[in-house]
Amino acid sequence: MTKSAAELWGSFLTAAAGKLSAHVIDSWLAPIRCARYDNATVVLEVRDQFARDWLRDHYVDFIRDELSLVAGESVAVDWVVNPELRLTDVSEETNAPPESPQERSGVTETVDSEKRESRQLNSRYVFDTFVSGPSNQFAFAACKAVAENPASSYNPLFLFGGVGLGKTHLLSAIGHQILREKPRARIIYTSSEAFVNEVINAVRFSKLDEFHNKYRRNCDVFLVDDIQLIAGKDRTQHEFFHIFNTLYDSQRQIVVTSDKLPHEIPDIEERLRNRFQWGLIADVQPPEIETRVAILRKKADSERVSLADEVIFFLAKNIRSNVRELEGALVRLMAHASLTGQPLTADYAQTVLADILQSRTLALSVESIQKLVASYYQVKIADLKSARRQRILVRPRQVAMYLCRKHAGASFPELGTRFGDKDHTTIMSACKKVDSLLKTDAALRKEVLELERRLDVLNP
Ligand code: ADP
Ligand code: MG
Repeated sequence: MTKSAAELWGSFLTAAAGKLSAHVIDSWLAPIRCARYDNATVVLEVRDQFARDWLRDHYVDFIRDELSLVAGESVAVDWVVNPELRLTDVSEETNAPPESPQERSGVTETVDSEKRESRQLNSRYVFDTFVSGPSNQFAFAACKAVAENPASSYNPLFLFGGVGLGKTHLLSAIGHQILREKPRARIIYTSSEAFVNEVINAVRFSKLDEFHNKYRRNCDVFLVDDIQLIAGKDRTQHEFFHIFNTLYDSQRQIVVTSDKLPHEIPDIEERLRNRFQWGLIADVQPPEIETRVAILRKKADSERVSLADEVIFFLAKNIRSNVRELEGALVRLMAHASLTGQPLTADYAQTVLADILQSRTLALSVESIQKLVASYYQVKIADLKSARRQRILVRPRQVAMYLCRKHAGASFPELGTRFGDKDHTTIMSACKKVDSLLKTDAALRKEVLELERRLDVLNP
């Protein structure tokens, strides 16, 4: 008889355990879900494209050969990205605090459902594993205040910031902290995507009463990730609006995260936009170098890997705008080192991460930023370098200087040369100007964010 997908994968992991390091198995192989095994084909699900590419680059032969061995036939492997896997965390069961005897004996339905919800919170995303620095300390403090006194300090709390900067981490940390102090609190954590689907299903299967009960009656703390994704979803917005009102009126805490400010989210009802502004809006900015160093140290410590300062600084210096990428680079480096047994030096890091770093330097060169800014504002690159004073040119020029300074790591004099032989003080004052305008001018802020988003796209 042939094995089931689960059995096959179990045997594979056991076999792999004798051949690869525990670190590789834990970080790369164990999180894979073996979704199907039939007709000599094995379908493996991974949480994101990065994991898929990495596994394909490094383990595709190993996985296929070992699977063939344990299956007793030669198998082909298909890879599928399943983002739902990001929510399940294998370490969760072991890290969870032990059940109290009381809980074990008198398991009620509510406790059961609380557990179900809290289970979706990633157990690694707690306040203790979050590194705070100037870029995020306001948001960090706001989240802690909310977790300590739900519904009494900032309600709703609107966490705002770019991709990979720790919003989901903070949101989840709030949930964990509340549960630690009030284990019976009914916390609902959901992504907007899951919420949209729930609304669709509730409508389709006539389960709106159940749906309303869940959110309006059986919820003390409502945590919604990536709220910007309800843009354009009218029915979901309608349901969300009513849930919001019920929870708010009965003094229950609401926290949402978003990669856009309320007024920048397109296609949402004005009344909803308005509600988001009732409480506190806290933003998370890209971390400064000190914070990046601290994040890397913490992560290496938690993996029990000792990393030389030169390696830490090398990574922190080169990967700037996104913590997820920073972590990804570190994981990749550690996996490489543990596979090859090479000592971790900055040179070694440079070799391993060459492709990431190269695309970064290419994408974030002064030229590519100038090109992007020119096409965004529909002006000529030559105009960015000229000295013409028309308003329509001054702003794009200043923004281009600002972005080059921030992301291309070029010095003021160097930028002076690259912007049509200007004095370095011209560049300095442009950067200063943009910096201060960003505090007050929402339109400019939106433009700069959009440009930075596009820079990151150039830079996967
Ligand atoms: P976002 O939701 O803003 O896109 P995430 O919360 O998913 O970002 O964070 C991406 C990764 O970076 C996560 O693994 C998270 O733990 C980590 N991370 C982000 N910011 C920090 C920080 N300040 N300290 C420690 N880890 C962080
Ligand atoms: Mg997120």
